[in-house]
Amino acid sequence: LVSRENHAERSVVRVGGVPIGPGTMTLIAGPCAVETPEQTLGAAQMAQAAGATLLRGGAFKPRTSPYAFQGLGKAGLRILADVREETGMPVVTEVVDAADVDLVASYADMLQIGTRNAQNFALLQAAGESGKPVMLKRGMSGTIEEWLMAAEYVAQRGNLDIVLCERGIRTFEKATRNTLDISAVPVAQRLSHLPVIVDPSHSGGSRDLVLPLTRAAIAVGADGVIIDVHPHPEAALCDGPQALVDGDLRELAKLVRDLPPIV
Ligand code: PEP
Repeated sequence: LVSRENHAERSVVRVGGVPIGPGTMTLIAGPCAVETPEQTLGAAQMAQAAGATLLRGGAFKPRTSPYAFQGLGKAGLRILADVREETGMPVVTEVVDAADVDLVASYADMLQIGTRNAQNFALLQAAGESGKPVMLKRGMSGTIEEWLMAAEYVAQRGNLDIVLCERGIRTFEKATRNTLDISAVPVAQRLSHLPVIVDPSHSGGSRDLVLPLTRAAIAVGADGVIIDVHPHPEAALCDGPQALVDGDLRELAKLVRDLPPIV
């Protein structure tokens, strides 16, 4: 269903009216985690002022350590809905458990399935039945074929509004948090009609890498980027070192706007 074999044209997926697909270079930005109403609104206003058209933000956070901040859950979803009301930005937020899909879908404009759940088939199927577009991150140790088969689980439930997100993979290299597999973008676009975006924040895990990796995403022909931003990264409860502040985000947004597609 997601293969290009029977679907030669690349697809455009609309999230609350915002298109992601060939030629769009959609900018999605927001906090890694929803922490407070003020922090989320602050991040959203920064994102919107810079030109982002979709707001990201995690209410359910899949953390490596059970002692780390796990997200605000339903309270975080309510904050996201309030910020959408205030800014008009459609919301992308993660769901980590099949049992929460209906709840998250009742607040979100797009469901995010994270790298740790990339082969959680019950969750993928539930997301496929949610009636909402799904952003599917590549598993950190997943092959491109496994990623596309995960998308197939969503599609099989009648939902073809799927956006693939390359977010870096596990390699032997320790200098970056993950290794951005930039070649996965054109390969996935060749094999599948689905839009493919890049997450330079979670790939590099470091603020100074976000701009160069975004350049790479644009150059390789990605359909969008998803970026962590925070009004006060030093106080962030999750992934502060990779969050952009206002000035950096504006520079990145200018790049996204002004850099002509490289053909
Ligand atoms: C996220 O985008 O908040 C996130 C946890 O990403 P990933 O699943 O790619 O680690």
